[in-house]
Amino acid sequence: MIKYFKDAQAELNSCIENVLWSKPVTVDGQIRTKHGVCEGVEYDDFEILNIIVRSDIHSIDYHDGKALFMSLNVKAEIEVACSYFDEKNSAWDAEEQDYLYKACGHIIEKHEIAFLAKVVCEIENERIGRKTIKPLLQRRLVLDRATLKDRFPLDLSAMSKFYEHLACKCGHYITVNLIDYEEDKTVTERGMGAETAHHVAYEDFCPNCGRKFKISGAIYEYPSGCFNYKDINTEWDAKN
Ligand SMILES: [Zn+2]
Repeated sequence: MIKYFKDAQAELNSCIENVLWSKPVTVDGQIRTKHGVCEGVEYDDFEILNIIVRSDIHSIDYHDGKALFMSLNVKAEIEVACSYFDEKNSAWDAEEQDYLYKACGHIIEKHEIAFLAKVVCEIENERIGRKTIKPLLQRRLVLDRATLKDRFPLDLSAMSKFYEHLACKCGHYITVNLIDYEEDKTVTERGMGAETAHHVAYEDFCPNCGRKFKISGAIYEYPSGCFNYKDINTEWDAKN
């Protein structure tokens, strides 16, 4: 049983990941105390960057050589980029009774949720064949103080963010902020000022199936502070 599970684990995890991607989500940055007071930040918007699913067998519920019913313990790590209205850094115009400038703050939050998933699969030639997976979850995912594991502010001035989205063959999706992996930059003077080429190199492996990948190339910023174009190449390891 363990063997069947190990063979199909990356696939089962990516199926669960896909269910999570399709769920409606609420990200709540506020804390409600006993006295009804709200603290924390109210987010205006958010974007899920990464979902990583890990699972192990909770129980084998039925097995007869042709079919396997099992329950999995699942843990999913969800990384979210959140934005909020930053009142402290905004400029209020008392005469106009309006903001001259509204600042936007950015925070990365990492959440972890744990749940059970029911799996029903057919066994064909000693392998897991057709299967259905049902994560036991509420209709809407709520990410709040109870699921929060880590939280840090992000400075998004100028070109400090460039998300590259990758899809591994196993079904797992990966988002990388390439600017975090800038090796070097070259500046060329052009008509509207400086053009900056951010040269990036990044190597990692898929956390779901272990396949290695390499990203290299450059992101061009021109005029200053604006994304112009990218010349990015992703190579996946042919093995596994
Ligand atoms: Zn993978």
